[in-house]
Amino acid sequence: MSDVRRNDGDELRALMARVPSVERVLASDAFAPLCARYGRTQVLDALRTTLDAWRGEAQAGRASVDALSDASLALSVGEHLAKRTQSSVRSVFNLTGTVLHTNLGRALLPDEAVSAVVDILTRPANLEFNLDTGARGDRDDLINGLICELTGAEAATVVNNNAAAVLLTLSALASRREVIVSRGELVEIGGAFRIPDIMSRAGAKLREVGTTNRTHLKDYDEAIGPKTALLMKVHCSNYAVTGFTKEVSLAELAPLAKARGLAIAVDLGSGTLVDLAQWGLPREATVRETVAAGADVVSFSGDKLLGGPQAGLIVGRRDLIAKIKKHPLKRALRVGKLTLAALEAVLRLYRAPENLRERLTTLRLLTRPADAMRLSAERIQAALQRMAGAEFAVAAEPMFSQIGSGALPVDVLPSYGLAVRLASGKRAGGQLNRLEKRLRELPRPVLGRIADGALRLDLRCLEEADEAAFVAQLEARSAGA
Ligand SMILES: *Cc1c(COP(=O)(O)O)cnc(C)c1O
Repeated sequence: MSDVRRNDGDELRALMARVPSVERVLASDAFAPLCARYGRTQVLDALRTTLDAWRGEAQAGRASVDALSDASLALSVGEHLAKRTQSSVRSVFNLTGTVLHTNLGRALLPDEAVSAVVDILTRPANLEFNLDTGARGDRDDLINGLICELTGAEAATVVNNNAAAVLLTLSALASRREVIVSRGELVEIGGAFRIPDIMSRAGAKLREVGTTNRTHLKDYDEAIGPKTALLMKVHCSNYAVTGFTKEVSLAELAPLAKARGLAIAVDLGSGTLVDLAQWGLPREATVRETVAAGADVVSFSGDKLLGGPQAGLIVGRRDLIAKIKKHPLKRALRVGKLTLAALEAVLRLYRAPENLRERLTTLRLLTRPADAMRLSAERIQAALQRMAGAEFAVAAEPMFSQIGSGALPVDVLPSYGLAVRLASGKRAGGQLNRLEKRLRELPRPVLGRIADGALRLDLRCLEEADEAAFVAQLEARSAGA
């Protein structure tokens, strides 16, 4: 090593003269693979950056001429380019315990959806072309039949997400008129979706009835007037009103709406197509039950409990869906072919309910047996202990996961995972945050959560197929590795 500590005058000039010409370096054997992979323009750029950094170091008396060899430069430039070309959207390990995590992309799609998307990505398709008549088609027609079959609705349409579905429904059916909603249902979903705001965006006037905890049928009845366009019910996705409460059910509200000649719109939020209680999950009204109970229009998300791609589905009465589809916003909020392909593949899985638990990724994760997670925790424990170091104690223990995305907010699912605490038994301060950061900096970042003095990695969403890769990257970062 020819480290140079003090560089004044001549010495610095002599050092700078050692910087090779970029043309010569680029033409060297060491750089051939880089140029082939990234193209000369990017490599030249990165080489200049690397050499500039070296000059800065030299001026500060910290540079080594060894770093100027073709091989060293190729290594630095290669690392720089690899980092730059890493995609910004990256896969992570979701060990937060929240299965449908909005910040982590919500539902994971089954293989059937993946291959449908690959097909349509790489080949032209009949997106808006009717293969029977040879005429122009409607993209909604590709999956409307399937949606109606699964929900019992007369008609359906699909938009970008459920927020868009609610906005479009209100814009098309209630613009410049009143929509009656119970005060107990004026939800705010994360990310600035608030029922009162959406209502005014859609040009509709919110008519609140009842109180936060109690709303009666007569509250709706008394609020109905000549300006009323719709009665609306909104799923209390992310909160629960308990105690001295009264909510008017859809079944109670439907006869009133009918008698007064009004439609009921329901924002179901998550919206499930099957009774989750059959797998021991908390019960939720299905879309079919909601339609049968008298909802005229129902909207719900594609990527929550349904387990599909981001989308908003609107189902209901034929005349109302036709009106919604004619609204100019529909064109702005429509979905692309990738969404349609993925959604159709996921919906098809519902035709075989007996296989659904195994095939639909979301459902498989939500119903994972505690034993499988416990065994996985026991297998991984030692690797995490080595990676964390002796400062920490890693224990396999029971914990609770959440469904997430506002689905069934108060219910928690018994789960199993790894909890990391200080080996000293003392209450951890910054140490856990530092460990959490180290896990986040792994090639495929690992995301857990810190709660009650422990860093918790819930293993519900680490399926066996992924376990080896998970352990391998822990081993690669263990002390001594
Ligand atoms: C989640 C949710 C929405 C928003 O759905 P996105 O698909 O995220 O746009 C709207 N309403 C309710 C009640 C929800 O739970």
